[in-house]
Formats: sequence, structure tokens, C-alpha cells
Amino acid sequence: MKITGVETYVLEGLLEDKVFGWSQRVTDRRQAALCAVSTDDGIQGLGEAFYYGGPARIVANLIGDGYAPLLIGRDPFDTSVIWDFLYNWTRDQGMKGLPISALSAIDIALWDIKGKALGLPVYKLLGGPYRNRAHVYATGLYQPQNVASIEDALAKEALGYKEQGFSAMKLKVGYGIEKDLRYVKALREAVGNDIVLMVDANHAYNAAEAIRLAKGMENYEVYWFEEPVPPEDIDGYIEVKQKSNILIAGGEDEFTRYGFRELITRRAVDILQPDLCAAGGFTEMMKIVAMASAWNVPLIPHVWGTNVGLAASLQFFAALPHFPERRYPAEPFFEYDRSPHPLRDGVTQERFLMKDSYLDIPQRPGLGITLDMDFVRKHGV
Ligand SMILES: [Mg+2]
Repeated sequence: MKITGVETYVLEGLLEDKVFGWSQRVTDRRQAALCAVSTDDGIQGLGEAFYYGGPARIVANLIGDGYAPLLIGRDPFDTSVIWDFLYNWTRDQGMKGLPISALSAIDIALWDIKGKALGLPVYKLLGGPYRNRAHVYATGLYQPQNVASIEDALAKEALGYKEQGFSAMKLKVGYGIEKDLRYVKALREAVGNDIVLMVDANHAYNAAEAIRLAKGMENYEVYWFEEPVPPEDIDGYIEVKQKSNILIAGGEDEFTRYGFRELITRRAVDILQPDLCAAGGFTEMMKIVAMASAWNVPLIPHVWGTNVGLAASLQFFAALPHFPERRYPAEPFFEYDRSPHPLRDGVTQERFLMKDSYLDIPQRPGLGITLDMDFVRKHGV
């Protein structure tokens, strides 16, 4: 089998009255960068590149103009060989960030092709399922804009998740310690003590501030504190982790086995959060998993995109081992983004619906999804 073409799709949807903010900025739109790799067998593989800050066209151009010409004529089964070749092609200026997100989308598409060609879901090719459904937590609780009381709006949103059956949810923090503590308190009081609550600062703080916030949050049973400090500040992570009684999570802004080597071997976090659509796709994620397993650092993937990235992440999640294996192993949480996203569901013909706090992992070949081309064309830019 040979690769014959690579298509990229850049989509955009405006949030209109659902504009939201977090510790770094406010956004009025969501974008997506998708790719489809074609073969001479007629099999097409799909991938998504994760990006923050956009525009998504930059990462799509990296796929279409940068990597696509290097893929034509190659065998899509040669995923490791292709990965190392493409990485080395842009290594001098592309060790982290968007080039690796672009490479991730291509790698995901190649695994989709392999699964479809063999008639097997991707998780089977990754070593088999440790689980066939994913226990989700709701990502949402961003900072609403133009509301009378942010605390009231957050409490209402959280109660909505609880009513839908979520048992865990994640709140954005990083707006200043006093404000963060008000939000955390309001949420904990609204949802009660039987809900698992995580917080995410999106690297808003230095280590001293993050430690102060962690100590303040101890009264509210926060399960993990995500991205307390900037991703480059590994010593800061270690300092916060040593002085916090809350688990420290991070890794959505880290890339490849080389980037994760530092987080893992220095034991900088309690929970590693690589994103399949950013850190390098399936090929690289399995190498990160192997390293995390050797150092016994639990891994819970970051997931934040359309149904293409979600479907791929579910396949990865099925094949994610326990940390460690034991008679009654701890089951990881799966991130289920519920923040406003006008493109998330419509890009695929399939829907992913939570039942009793779980998402089923598709058993269909490849990623188990089909693009809705009418939707993709309608929202393409
Ligand atoms: Mg995060």
C-alpha cells in the first residue's frame, strides 16, 4: 500500500454568546485542523492536530506544505520509520510545538489506515484493551463572560454536569489566588463532597504562588492541580509537588519522548498529561507510555478537540496500561471536553455520548469514525 495524497481541513466556528475565558485569554471562536491521508488501496486515514492560540491554518500548512510532499509513495504501515524521518526533517527548528502537532495528526491518520486495512480498531494494534469504556470527567467551568455573578454561573454549570451524571469535573483557575479560592469554594459548596473536582491554572503562576493556592485549596478536596507553573519551569513543578498535598498534573504543553523524558525522570508531576494530537500521535505516545511505565508515573491523556481527536484518544486510552498493574488497578479518568465548541460533534457522522459517567470505546476498524464532509465544507475556512 502507498500513500497517494494528504488533504487538510481548517474549520472555524464562532462562540457568539458562549464566549469564555481562562487564565491566559478570552476566546470568541473554536478552530480545528484535520487531515485525511489517502492511499492507492482507497483507504483514507483521519487525524487531528492540537494547537493553542491558532490560527489552525498554521498547523494545517505544516501538514499540507511541510510534511505531505515527504509522505507520497510511502507505505502507511511504516509508522515508526515515517515518524523518525519527519521528526528529523524539522528537528532543527521543530522539536516542540506546532511541527509536532502536525506530525501527530499525520501519525494518527496512518494508524487509522492500518486499522482499517486490517479490519481492527487501533487499540488492538497498540497491544489490546485494558478497558472497553472510559470513565470521564467534564472539562468546562471556564470563566463565563458577561454574567452578573461568575460564582453563580459556575455553580449552575457544575450542577448541570452533576445532573447529566458526571462524577468528576475540572474548573479553570489562575485568575489570582483570592479569586481562585472563591471559585473553588463556590463550586465545592454547590456540588457537594461526592463529586471529584480538579483545577487547572494553565500555567498562570510561579512556584511560590502555586504553593500558596494549593495550600488554600486543601480544605476543598481538590483531586489534582493541573499546570500550576509554566511548562519550561520543571524545577518549579518539583517545588510545587513537594510542598502540595494535592496531586500535581501537567504535560499538555510537552512534546515527544525527549520532552517527556525530563518530566518523567525528574518526577516533576504526579500525573502526566500528554495530548495524543500534540505530543506525537500514537507512535510517540506509546514510547512516552513505556517511559512513564518504567518510572511508574501515571499517565492520563489531555483531550481537547473535535470528535476526530476524541475518537483517536479513546483508542489510545483503551491501550493505556495501569500504573501499576495490580489485582484491583486504579482506573484513569478520561478528559471529556464540554466547553462550548460548535465544531466538535458535527465533523463526524458518529456521536460520542456519555452514559453513567462513561464513554464507550468504539470497536470499529481504525479510529471508528467517518467525516461528515457536508459539515466540514460548510465550516471550512
Ligand atoms: Mg489543561
